[in-house]
Amino acid sequence: MSFAQRTHGCGEPRASHAGEQVILNGWAHRVRDLGGVCFVDLRDRSGIVQLVFDPSRFQNLAEIRSESCLSVTGTVRLRDPDTKNPAMPTGEVEIVVTGYNVLGPAKTLPFPVSDEEQMTSVNEELRIKYRYLDLRRPAMYRKFAIRAAAIRRIRAYLDQREFLEIETPIFTKSTPEGARDYLVPYRLEPGLFYALPQSPQQYKQLLMVAGVERYYQIAKCFRDEAQRADRQPEFTQLDLEMSFVTQEDVLRLIEGLTVEVVNGLIEEFDLPKDRVEGFARLTYDESMHLYGCDKPDLRFGLQLFDISSVVKDCGFGVFKSCIDGGGFVRGIRYPGGASLSRKEIGILEEFCKEFGAKGMASFGLAQDPADAGEGAVVLADGRAVKGSIAKFFKPEELVQILETAKAEPGDLLCFIADAYSAGNNVLFRLRNEIGERCGLRDQRKVAFCFVLDFPLVEWNPESSRWDATHHPFTAPKAEDLIYIDTDPGRIRADCYDVVCNGTEWASGSIRIHRPDIQERCFKLLGLDEETIRARFGHMIEAFEYGAPPHGGIAPGIDRLIMFLTDDENIREVIAFPKIGQGMDPMMGAPSTIDPQQWAELGLRLGE
Ligand code: ASP
Repeated sequence: MSFAQRTHGCGEPRASHAGEQVILNGWAHRVRDLGGVCFVDLRDRSGIVQLVFDPSRFQNLAEIRSESCLSVTGTVRLRDPDTKNPAMPTGEVEIVVTGYNVLGPAKTLPFPVSDEEQMTSVNEELRIKYRYLDLRRPAMYRKFAIRAAAIRRIRAYLDQREFLEIETPIFTKSTPEGARDYLVPYRLEPGLFYALPQSPQQYKQLLMVAGVERYYQIAKCFRDEAQRADRQPEFTQLDLEMSFVTQEDVLRLIEGLTVEVVNGLIEEFDLPKDRVEGFARLTYDESMHLYGCDKPDLRFGLQLFDISSVVKDCGFGVFKSCIDGGGFVRGIRYPGGASLSRKEIGILEEFCKEFGAKGMASFGLAQDPADAGEGAVVLADGRAVKGSIAKFFKPEELVQILETAKAEPGDLLCFIADAYSAGNNVLFRLRNEIGERCGLRDQRKVAFCFVLDFPLVEWNPESSRWDATHHPFTAPKAEDLIYIDTDPGRIRADCYDVVCNGTEWASGSIRIHRPDIQERCFKLLGLDEETIRARFGHMIEAFEYGAPPHGGIAPGIDRLIMFLTDDENIREVIAFPKIGQGMDPMMGAPSTIDPQQWAELGLRLGE
């Protein structure tokens, strides 16, 4: 079949083109044969336009099946006023077809790509098996247009600042980012394997030793870990590294880049989002204290409060014995929650228990003291506290609790009495739950924050050793190095995360560049001399040849797009994602290999 080069995209014809001859190429989005006239909506990536066929002119219109690929010649005609479609950019016109070719006939599709409503009920595995059809949907195309524009803008930002884009190897050696490696057998010497990079971490540091000073890469990373809605076995990071910088320089760079890229995309794609003004900053300790986690969702306030000092001698046994045992009583305000029924509060208590709480105590500050009901404690200023535990507190304790919690009339105050980290584990989830229930997780907001000063290491009780909180190349804060032999848990690192809407988006650090310190830190992580030489000898040696101070960061590209498109599943923003535990149903990967390949690789299945 021959086809003529198009004169216009399907989304382009307007009233001003009326009377013009056009050639269009695209897919039959919808076909409506009304007998006397046949309408076809023709779609290409620029949009959709209505074609009108006169059946008396064409013998075989039945061949134009939904989703067949067409080339069409026709004349632009203004639609009658009552048939105009203001919902379509091309809705003022239609194309009266004078000739057409079916370039690629289509059989019946496994799902209706032209019907977004019906697509919501199509099984995801089927969509991914036929991803090349799923991606025909304009809504999907738009996500990848946003993704491509994001990468283009990131490159422009970094290129302007003299960063060099450099590719690093995919066949490499294990890089310790904390996940399992994907391994590739080495054919020439059975028993040897490459690892696919969990990140280009070591290469980018070696590029700093090489004098590159400013590197970036849109890098594919591979991590064999349990799949979740925001994880894929292979994903994309903007990986960057800079020499002769302090933490502040890296933070400013990434904040400036993000603000410019995100605001540029909001404008270019008219995204329903508020412009980003800058990043909030919290230390790790502040984040844990105020939000119960190191990934706070700052689309809303609702900070945790601590009433331990107020209730240490109170008459409520649960609180008192928790504090006597070294624990804390902390809580969160539930705006408007005072009107919840006993049953609804019970559901909230169950929610907390699911995450390990022994219970959740609560009381409300009545919206209207006159309706506080029986058993409410009325304070001297007329406010009424309702809830069965209120009577255990002295009025002055109640006043102080309300003050600490910044309680407003109508609020429910929820309390968790537990050890610090166990309490946090419940409170941050409770905060997110309350945020969700109260509609505070505003879709218009993209709330970025830096979380700074992470601990360098955390104790792993299962393996009885210190694990790196970030990765083993992270620099300890110089002033905290004194604790390395006595109290490693106290060492803070020059390490930072960027969190967006409650999700970790980027991680980075200033790196160790001195071989002696790198060696001490490896030893702190339980690696012996021999293992250090075998796994990281090349890093230590490189640092012996004049390594510059350096640091970097790596934000996730897939997650950035998810924030902008409001997708909750990472698969929606990856063209060909894996499903389940890493399966690609379209290609049929992973797959078996030929017996000859087994033999060549010197591999055998274990018993
Ligand atoms: N390599 C780190 C990661 O992938 C990022 C960094 O430290 O730059 O999380």
